[in-house]
Amino acid sequence: TVRVRFAPSPTGHLHIGGVRTALFNFLYARHTGGRLILRLEDTDVDRNVPGAEQAFVEAFKWLGLTWDEGFDIGGPYGPYRCSERLPIYRAYAEELMASGRAYACFCAQGGAHEERPDEDEDDGPRAGTSGCAGECRAMDPELARKRVKAGEPHAVRFLAPPGPAVVVRDRIRGEIAFEREELRDFVILKRDGMPTYNFQVAIDDHLMAITHVIRGEEHLSNTPRQLLIYEALGFTPPEFAHLPIVLDETRKKLSKRDPNVLPVSAYRELGYLPEAIVNFLALLGWSPGGEEEMFGLDELCARFDLDRVGRAGAVFDLAKFRWMANQYFKALEPAKAVRLIREQAARLNYALPPYADDDWLARAVALVQDGLACARDFFAAARVWLEPDVAYDEEALALISTEGAARVIRAYLSASEADPAWNEEANRARLQAVGRELGVKGRDLLMPVRAALTGQTHGPDLQKSMALLPRHIALARMRRAAE
Ligand code: GLU
Repeated sequence: TVRVRFAPSPTGHLHIGGVRTALFNFLYARHTGGRLILRLEDTDVDRNVPGAEQAFVEAFKWLGLTWDEGFDIGGPYGPYRCSERLPIYRAYAEELMASGRAYACFCAQGGAHEERPDEDEDDGPRAGTSGCAGECRAMDPELARKRVKAGEPHAVRFLAPPGPAVVVRDRIRGEIAFEREELRDFVILKRDGMPTYNFQVAIDDHLMAITHVIRGEEHLSNTPRQLLIYEALGFTPPEFAHLPIVLDETRKKLSKRDPNVLPVSAYRELGYLPEAIVNFLALLGWSPGGEEEMFGLDELCARFDLDRVGRAGAVFDLAKFRWMANQYFKALEPAKAVRLIREQAARLNYALPPYADDDWLARAVALVQDGLACARDFFAAARVWLEPDVAYDEEALALISTEGAARVIRAYLSASEADPAWNEEANRARLQAVGRELGVKGRDLLMPVRAALTGQTHGPDLQKSMALLPRHIALARMRRAAE
């Protein structure tokens, strides 16, 4: 059976690109009836961020992803936290040294700056740049063994043998050849006893019986080194599928620091719907063919396959993201929308007005829901009903300063002052009566009232909007507009 893994390093937030990788692994596991393993690659100790692993688990759960084995739930191939597997890496490093496929490197620099995988520049120096001029490789193995035995600090370097190009066979990208010269002796165990990424990942993928390594394209150049380890240890490599890079709108690699793209936790905090994020991310590199774009998680599990993952970089299109988020948000049941809005208010420390009970919030959200992408958007969209004061835009100001509009506003104000009823029906009837009395109808009747009450000349249904305002606030606004 298929066994795939998602292997984040707890070095910070879960970025959108990382979630896309997790999602594709999840979808492939579910599509094939396989298993998803969650492994924590936490051996780059200086970069570990406390709390990150818990945040990953929460983010995945929020998105609706599930896994079958992992650092949080255990399983038959554990431990799944790499820092708990150090003796395993040590034993394999020793095996490689014994068979002459690796050697101890005593250079002070040995491994200090080359442990990180090839990734993007902002993730530190690249792997594979040798800090050793070759003395350690040439050292008499007996002498090296003695120095190791005596406790001298050392790293362990893989001895990259000469030979033909190393060919990566990738499910998505086909065959890619890497010349041996690019794969100079690289550190597998650092001086502090920690494995480097390329060594750790090869051993763990093998021991955890991973059948398919699905990960971001930024790891492609690491794969030949991992293949050399497989070969030296006599392991059979898994299949590889390197997912297309995620690009920003200028078609540059999406940076983890791109201010337009947030970590998953931030989308959750803003009140986006997880279904929208899953749907959007699924289309970042995969396409089902055809025009259809809206897919729930179950349907994605049924339809996803690696054969429909493209090679071309996948652009994170912000407008598309907002559009997708809006598709889901506007379809939300009112009660759920109200709950998300209350959560937002609490998070923002925003005091909702006393009249904003659940029924009121449901009516308010219904009026603006079509335009919302997330719960946070509600506060701007509903500002005219939430805040006691209203800001008049230019058009509204221009309108209410005309004599015709001012007459309507004054007449409607005094009719309303004389009438204690304040609800949709009573308000409508009263406005019609004022219109008949003044001989005004249609836009000429509605617009002045709208402008006076909302400060704008456009917006949702006037009567529904007006009825959301408490009577005293509505009257105060009309008085101010009539001044
Ligand atoms: N820990 C690596 C990362 O965070 C995993 C890479 C892989 O999937 O092999 O990118």
